Amino acid sequence: DLNHNVLEVRNVETFYGPIMALRGVSIDVPEGQIVTILGANGAGKTTLMKTVSGALDPEKGTVSFLGERVDGDEPDRMVRRGMAHVPEGREVFPFLTVEENLRLGAYTRRDGGIGDDMEMVFSYFPILKERRAQQAGTLSGGQQQMLAIGRGLMARPRLMLLDEPSLGLSPLLVQEIFAIIRRLNEEQGVTMLLVEQNAQVALNTADFGYVLEIGRIVMAGEASKLLGSEDIQEFYLGGG
Ligand code: ATP
Repeated sequence: DLNHNVLEVRNVETFYGPIMALRGVSIDVPEGQIVTILGANGAGKTTLMKTVSGALDPEKGTVSFLGERVDGDEPDRMVRRGMAHVPEGREVFPFLTVEENLRLGAYTRRDGGIGDDMEMVFSYFPILKERRAQQAGTLSGGQQQMLAIGRGLMARPRLMLLDEPSLGLSPLLVQEIFAIIRRLNEEQGVTMLLVEQNAQVALNTADFGYVLEIGRIVMAGEASKLLGSEDIQEFYLGGG
């Protein structure tokens, strides 16, 4: 089914105490696609990601994953359902080795494919293979980001949540990591929800994009169309 949505968020309102951070947000993530959420600092991107991953409960609205209501579920349960949250790169376990970090990504799995999947991860990130016995904390920022993505892949997720993979990386590394993200989507069929402040690279990578402003979706469309939009050019791509 080409139109099957892995994730459906409907009219979600999420609060921090009295502060309404999401004001009725709805998004779809179709199977096999990369969907990106763009927005300035404080727009609510992280809040949306946390509402999807179960770290925050919405006051109103629903989150459906693989056809089931999941709002209110704990993050651990979301992981078991097949959602992998790839945090910003520096959140790998610094005192564990690269290989131990990767094995932890597969903790919900009981099948025997873990060795094969580690080889798959190494084929996309050869540097991780070279450094497999090294403590993760000794890796560069870019390598730690690669490890965070690799750890997410080890769960064989139905949906991967990518939180600002470009953060703190040089432009060259950003290009490299996003090229791999695109290949993982095309070659491994990984469905992704990508939150990014770097609109250029996000729209070049994604199939579809939403723009979040002060807790509301103000624009949505195919990534290629958004790239050409004057408003996007002016506010998010520094053109105009
Ligand atoms: P950034 O890229 O800076 O993380 P963002 O788009 O992810 O921005 P959020 O972090 O989701 O935005 O924040 C959305 C709104 O909620 C902001 O107005 C922010 O000040 C507020 N907010 C975020 N976290 C909290 C919190 N723990 N307590 C109170 N308000 C919060």
